[in-house]
Amino acid sequence: MEKEQKFYRDTWAEINLDDIAYNVKEALKLLGKNEKLFAVVKANAYGHGDVQVAKTAVEAGAEGLAVAFFDEALSVQKAGLAVPLLVLGASRPDVAGLAAERDISLTVFRLEWLQEAEKLLEDQQVLRVHIKCDTGMGRLGVKTKEELREIEAFIRQSPKLALEGVFTHFATADEVDTEYFEDQYSAFREMVEALEEKPPFVHCANSAASLRFPKARLDAVRFGISMYGLSPSPDIKPLLPFPLKQAFSLHTKIAQVKKLKRGEKISYGATYEAQGEEWIATLPVGYADGWLRRLQGQEVIADGRRVPIVGRICMDQCMIRLPEYMSPGTKVTLIGKQEEEITMDEIAVKMDTINYEVPCMITARVPRVYKKSGKIVEIVNPLI
Ligand SMILES: *Cc1c(COP(=O)(O)O)cnc(C)c1O
Repeated sequence: MEKEQKFYRDTWAEINLDDIAYNVKEALKLLGKNEKLFAVVKANAYGHGDVQVAKTAVEAGAEGLAVAFFDEALSVQKAGLAVPLLVLGASRPDVAGLAAERDISLTVFRLEWLQEAEKLLEDQQVLRVHIKCDTGMGRLGVKTKEELREIEAFIRQSPKLALEGVFTHFATADEVDTEYFEDQYSAFREMVEALEEKPPFVHCANSAASLRFPKARLDAVRFGISMYGLSPSPDIKPLLPFPLKQAFSLHTKIAQVKKLKRGEKISYGATYEAQGEEWIATLPVGYADGWLRRLQGQEVIADGRRVPIVGRICMDQCMIRLPEYMSPGTKVTLIGKQEEEITMDEIAVKMDTINYEVPCMITARVPRVYKKSGKIVEIVNPLI
């Protein structure tokens, strides 16, 4: 089978595209018919694979795509999807021509940037832009109605520019306390009111806001983390309107099994010492795969049972302690289900971070295996 020949190491990530489609469809059920869903596929779709996720999301009903950087927009265009594609972050003014040519919408938050970009556009070229408002995130965006109106006026007087949208981003939509969210929401509504004319897409909601606050859905929601089946924060998990399905899992296979005698040591620094006779297995996965040293002590699932990582995690390998002998080649699940389940949230807690960071840090050395209806439909391994 050619598809199964695309990688030769015994460590791989699986992305269940059915789960992504399910998360998108469930979110769409909550939206009104004029409320569109833009699938956020920045950062290689949070480590899941931008082209594969974009195709799945659009097939499931997403009507737009969003990325952080222009290069990511070019990458996701390989999917050949005829939906609006927005760059949410800052772009250089000199990409304006290519953006216009490729139908990629850019974000604008500075008049000087826009003037420079416009000068670089040729006659007949039209660049679509969304104006970003900073209502309390303190990241990108215009802060006053005056700046907003100035940018709007410049866009409207230029035949080379089209105002496609206006948006803002929430800093606390994933927190139980909604006060700061409400302040940002009101500030945004006021800024939108200050426009001479509303553009087609007025949008503000990330996953948390779109799932929790119907009023924030406006013309479109920017659906990121929950499309991948993850809760925007542990605190709002009980408040989510439908159960999410985690699409990403990480697996490996035992390379060697050995019996240690009491007092024998494991890995760099010889920090782990066998307390008696112990079965120790070596796994071909390490920190260069994104399986960081900080995960020492974390459990994994071998033969359906939770077992601990012992000793320091190396660049390419780590060791686990088995309750009994298991044969080399036994499948071990690091993230995901194998009778037991290890969620992305559990790994995030262990790493003292948020679930967003976990799939993003699984490096390109780990092949991505895409599954649909239980079958492998594609394998991506940039190494070979
Ligand atoms: C990343 C991002 C999103 C998606 O946020 P999630 O919490 O993953 O849904 C939406 N809008 C902007 C501006 C972003 O940068």
